[in-house]
Amino acid sequence: MSIIKNVVTLCAVGVIASLGYAAQAQDITTQHNEHHQRLLQGQTAVYEEINLLDTLAMKELEISENFNLAAELYGSDWNQERVNPYNATKMELPDSMTIDLSNFSIPHNGYITSNYGWRRRRMHRGIDIKVQTGDTIRAAFDGKIRLTKYERRGYGYYVIIRHDNGLETIYGHLSKFLVKPDQVVKAGEPIALGGNTGRSTGSHLHFETRYLGMDINPNAIFDFNNKTIKTNMLAFSPKLLASKGPSTIHVDGTKYGYNNGKSGGSGAATYRVRKGDTLSRIAQRNGTTVNRLCNLNGIKRTSTLRPGQVLRLR
Ligand SMILES: [Zn+2]
Repeated sequence: MSIIKNVVTLCAVGVIASLGYAAQAQDITTQHNEHHQRLLQGQTAVYEEINLLDTLAMKELEISENFNLAAELYGSDWNQERVNPYNATKMELPDSMTIDLSNFSIPHNGYITSNYGWRRRRMHRGIDIKVQTGDTIRAAFDGKIRLTKYERRGYGYYVIIRHDNGLETIYGHLSKFLVKPDQVVKAGEPIALGGNTGRSTGSHLHFETRYLGMDINPNAIFDFNNKTIKTNMLAFSPKLLASKGPSTIHVDGTKYGYNNGKSGGSGAATYRVRKGDTLSRIAQRNGTTVNRLCNLNGIKRTSTLRPGQVLRLR
């Protein structure tokens, strides 16, 4: 009797257990089906995409080429600490390259308050745009947030985006981040609010456009007055630019400043002459001319340089 009772009890437990299991199994089946449904929906999207690829083969190819461009240029280098972890001057770079700028957004439609170039003996690697603290700052092109950081004596709160087209853009003096590192963004997407942080007097956006860490005058890319771009395809020679040091980039017959991030990059205002130096070599390496060096230092082209002698560069 007791055995039967035990069996009954066991059975009852068994029933309860299997009921519980059945309920659970029901759940799993439902979840599984939902999962399948989602997969199927996803599959439909993939098929549609393939059809689109067939129809717009050229367009899609361009996009994938763009996408591969950033991957090809930067490889696995995804540094989330430094502004310029690259050394373009030591890289094998192509003779010619075009950057697709067609899918763009002006980061902010304020006017330019300070331009790219030498400014009070320091190289200003970007342009300053007037913003009010709290204004929305937008991604210039499609891309991925490489870093968001704070630099008290420099950029303040700043964001760097690596774009699918191979460019990187920097946004400085921000008051608030609206994105996180590794986040994928579209051109025009809000990434931050403008501000007055870091080395800044008065709220403004400091905006830089870079290619492998080399800064390009943003005016070569954007027409800030007309809120558009200068050209759909920016053609230039990365090899030439990386090897030449401070130089110019030609867009629509106009020359724009460019800096390879090496020479003159420290913003040095003076140069200490080393053994074997010539005026032309010093000029070339520091992005200036022999004439300018002569004028600044009250010397002649034919003057003998002494090792240890300090020359003014700016
Ligand atoms: Zn600035």
